[in-house]
Amino acid sequence: MKNKRKELSIKWKVFAYLSAFVGALLVLLWLFQIVFLDSFYQAIKTRAIKSASESIAKNINDSDLQSYLEGIANRDDICVRILSTQGEELYSVDIRPDCMIHKLPAQALVEQCFEKAEGNGGTAFETFSTDFVLPPHEAMRDKQDGDGGEENWEKDRRGYKKKREVVMRSMIHAEIVTFADGTDAIILLNSVISPINATVETLRVQLGYITVILLVLSLFIALLLSRRVAEPIISINDSAKELARGRYDTRFGGRGYREVSELSDTLNYAAKELSKVEQLRRELIANISHDLRTPLTMITGYAEVMRDLPGENTPENVQIIIDEANRLSTLVSDVLDISKFQSGTQELAPGEFSLTALVREIIGRYGKLTGQEGYQIRFDYGAEVMVNADEVRLSQVIYNLINNAINYTGEDKSITVRQTVHEGRVRLEVIDNGAGIAADELPLIWDRYYKVDKAHKRAAVGSGLGLSIVRGILELHHADYGVESTPGKGSTFWFELPVL
Ligand code: ADP
Repeated sequence: MKNKRKELSIKWKVFAYLSAFVGALLVLLWLFQIVFLDSFYQAIKTRAIKSASESIAKNINDSDLQSYLEGIANRDDICVRILSTQGEELYSVDIRPDCMIHKLPAQALVEQCFEKAEGNGGTAFETFSTDFVLPPHEAMRDKQDGDGGEENWEKDRRGYKKKREVVMRSMIHAEIVTFADGTDAIILLNSVISPINATVETLRVQLGYITVILLVLSLFIALLLSRRVAEPIISINDSAKELARGRYDTRFGGRGYREVSELSDTLNYAAKELSKVEQLRRELIANISHDLRTPLTMITGYAEVMRDLPGENTPENVQIIIDEANRLSTLVSDVLDISKFQSGTQELAPGEFSLTALVREIIGRYGKLTGQEGYQIRFDYGAEVMVNADEVRLSQVIYNLINNAINYTGEDKSITVRQTVHEGRVRLEVIDNGAGIAADELPLIWDRYYKVDKAHKRAAVGSGLGLSIVRGILELHHADYGVESTPGKGSTFWFELPVL
């Protein structure tokens, strides 16, 4: 628990991840837009100027070279000058005010570049910096702009800002060509390779806005997202704590996305099952304590009478104590059986045996009862039937059904056990002519502790567990079972098993 407390809540985790993502995105943007902008721009420009030079060299013998050059110059924003080896100007396109190749004298250019290019396989390439004073409109914008243009200003001794010159990187590309007539010439191209200051400024300002907007947006989204993710979980957690405190009516309402809905449903189901178990536990304790008390009261009552009144020390009274003690132990073993069926730990020990013989034997044990109290138990059967089942458990079923029949049969005190075989299945029916069971009670009598007449005959008849045990055993055998009953006429309890 201690460790868990230290962990971040899901809300802050989601927020942290999202912030990290946005941070990374911004860093990337800054790197590309600001830090590497110069080098990218330079690389692109260099490539452009080289390919421009190559295509000019290819088309050097064009009849309309001048307009071709103008096209290229405008497209790539470069100045072009083609000079003969003597320093004569053959062609020229001058589109930039700060162009270096048009400022320098032709003769000097040829001298410098021709040699260099010759020594370098026909092309020369030179970059250099020029001091460049910002045009007036950019200088104005920088002044207002406190932030972005600050580096272009420095304070003089009197504390006034004065304009500092901006360094622009420029590049000259030289390439030697030979005309069709055999004369040599040099193509000179000039272009600025620092990004234009205004563009950089625009990007920088834009990036500032983007940064702020993205940060605010990501904060907002992170909070929203984390709330949507976290809140259902938090609510489920709260409900689960309630449940842990034993409030089984707690409902889990976490919704919002599939996983959490499923979790809610599962927990609702678990809570329902738990509450059922809890309900059963309460019922069980109430019923068992009630059922235990009756025989115990009898036992202590009779024992005290026998202790205090010597004349009462009769075998009949001792027999009552023994009967009540037996009832107690039956009750306890019934409860144990029930809990085994409940927990699913009850296992069967199936074997082959004759169902007919088993029923005959059980009915035989009722001999004393039938003899003394006038009960009649008839067994109707055709042939001996073998089944594969747990004999001990099945005899428990038959006992319970016959006991019930004896307990609830009518004045005629007659009970019929009928065995029939049909389509490979044996059906055993226990029939009585008692009061029967009302149709709406029928499905309920299989439940634990269900008694149709709760007050009546409680002490005299069973614990209310009998049919529940019957059901448990028959279901373990995957047997069909049921009851048909007509109130006033009697009931027929039956089950079916496959014949071997
Ligand atoms: P009990 O120990 O009370 O007999 P059971 O689980 O065996 O408990 O039966 C549940 C209830 O079903 C009984 O209380 C009784 O009301 C009803 N019942 C069971 N068998 C019969 C029957 N043969 N005739 C009428 N009612 C019956």
